[in-house]
Amino acid sequence: MPLAAMREIIAPAQAAGHGVGAFNVIGIEHAEAIVAGAEAAGAPVVLQISQNCIAYHGAFAPIARACLAVATSATVPVAVHLDHASGPELVEAAAELGLGSVMYDASRLPYASNVSSTAHVARWCHARGIWVEAELGEIGGKNGLHSPLARTDPGEAARFVDATTVDALAVAVGSSHAMLTRDAVVDLGLIGRIRRAVRVPLVLHGSSGVADEDLAAAIGAGMTKVNIATQLNKVFTAAVRHALSREPATVDPRRYGSAGREAIASEVTRLLRLLGAGSTSQEVAAGRVEPAASGGAQAGGAGEPLSPVE
Ligand SMILES: [Zn+2]
Repeated sequence: MPLAAMREIIAPAQAAGHGVGAFNVIGIEHAEAIVAGAEAAGAPVVLQISQNCIAYHGAFAPIARACLAVATSATVPVAVHLDHASGPELVEAAAELGLGSVMYDASRLPYASNVSSTAHVARWCHARGIWVEAELGEIGGKNGLHSPLARTDPGEAARFVDATTVDALAVAVGSSHAMLTRDAVVDLGLIGRIRRAVRVPLVLHGSSGVADEDLAAAIGAGMTKVNIATQLNKVFTAAVRHALSREPATVDPRRYGSAGREAIASEVTRLLRLLGAGSTSQEVAAGRVEPAASGGAQAGGAGEPLSPVE
């Protein structure tokens, strides 16, 4: 089942009003854990590789091939996606490596330049069968500064999607990247207005800063793809720190690495259920799911310097 096209995962979720969890990978342990968590939830999932992740590894191919291999052996549909590419070169590299989905982020540019540059990339990608996500109304946090005030205008969003032919749109509705606290105020009314103005699926970035009940409400208001990075790094690092402090003499990275991996897997399972992405999903859209306790998710990680866009 395995490696899936983004459209195969997103289209049924959008039609049913469910969310799709898209999680950022850092190392192969992240990819393994995210897929294990999705398998436990019985839900499809998206593995995302960001430009910053590629910079961390110093190369795109090793982490991309690892993610594609993990996806191929999964028992649930898994799409592998390039997150926040700021230039066309990385999009071309993703295509060459066999990724079927990219986010091209020209949201820092003025509107007209964002449109022309995104339309060019979308044409290039569509000629190769690649799914394209773009961003309008720059979402905060990418430069390390949180600016939850950025907002996407619904009318402009509709014109942007028509002019660029993108397959999905990341919108600024109150969330901000790399937040360590989960208290962003999401503008549910605005999500609804953009949803009614735009036909393509909407993407929530910076979702780690959004509380459980607000994530579920954002899906209910019309959000489909939910990008989560920092939250997994928080639970991973907290579990590793706990394992190392419990056994300070440990030298084998598998001892603490497996603790981190297990923490990510269970958090992914919990979040996918919350988003309605798993088998129990109908109830989320209907507002019948109790937000799960956050458990260790809140603990640890605070004070860690995290990259602005994972
Ligand atoms: Zn993002």
